[in-house]
Amino acid sequence: MTNKTILISGCCGFIGSHLCDHYLKKKFNVIGIDNLLTGSLSNISHLEGNKNFRFFELDVCHKIKIDSKIDYILHFASTASPIDYLKFPIKTLQIGSVGTENILKLAIKNDASVLLASTSEVYGDPLQHPQKESYFGNVNPIGPRGVYDEAKRYLEAMTMAYHNKRKLNTKIVRIFNTYGPRMRIDDGRAIPTFINQALNNKDLTVFGNGNQTRSFCYIDDTVEGISKLLDCKYNYPVNIGNPVEFTILELTEKIKKLTDSESKIIYKKLPENDPKVRRPNIELAKNILKWEPKVKLNDGLLKTINHYQNLYKFNK
Ligand code: UDP
Repeated sequence: MTNKTILISGCCGFIGSHLCDHYLKKKFNVIGIDNLLTGSLSNISHLEGNKNFRFFELDVCHKIKIDSKIDYILHFASTASPIDYLKFPIKTLQIGSVGTENILKLAIKNDASVLLASTSEVYGDPLQHPQKESYFGNVNPIGPRGVYDEAKRYLEAMTMAYHNKRKLNTKIVRIFNTYGPRMRIDDGRAIPTFINQALNNKDLTVFGNGNQTRSFCYIDDTVEGISKLLDCKYNYPVNIGNPVEFTILELTEKIKKLTDSESKIIYKKLPENDPKVRRPNIELAKNILKWEPKVKLNDGLLKTINHYQNLYKFNK
């Protein structure tokens, strides 16, 4: 039994809402905040009436006023999918900069430990493969993805400055592609898009030749990694992701098979600066957190497909 209070920003988003569930199960008092820009109240509707959960509609870009004493903060508020940050480029930069500093100030005020969500995008279109935490990355600051990549790089720099100068207990997680129930079906990312297309027997839209790679981590594994990182004493960035790498074409084949779909593949223009490869080196997480992902892509995809089938009516 714990009486500890944890504040989770971005609680109505995909990862944020799963973190709320995780910490409520661990008997924490959870305060969720979200401005509902890209998150949805439906992701936390099952928590209505839970006396250990409180929700506030707040924007981290404005001063955050919370009356209770906070012991831990998880900062997950951000646009996260390429179509979202292309739609809200200035806001994305503000969330990473102003929003991050507001969260760090809240942590100072409460003497709270704080874990901030960074991303594999800090490595950009990487020239090192797989990507280790020591790699500085290859990011085009003025390319279309720059607004997100640089926002998160700034988040890391600001976090380390508060750690070094103000002695704040900070953690940074670099999250690689994560998937699972509660991703918005229209958020433009590969897995929800292909599942939606496959279940409607529509063409699967592969960008470029489909030989670009990604490594997909199921949400339960990601949450477990984040939770262990919050508990450990390490203050530098840690990769959390699944090191099993697939091409996007391989991913479409799997989804077609699992949904028993007749969809065809069509090829569309590759977005500018789309990383050609991505795979985490997770040796650090294995060593210091004793963590590694357990869920295989097929199993995670099946759970995700089931989730969407329960939510929506598809054509097949
Ligand atoms: N992708 C694709 N078709 C889609 C959506 C995505 O081929 O309809 C590709 C995209 O170009 C990228 C990969 O799938 O190479 C993963 O894209 P996603 O948006 O899921 O995440 P990213 O890793 O690029 O942030």
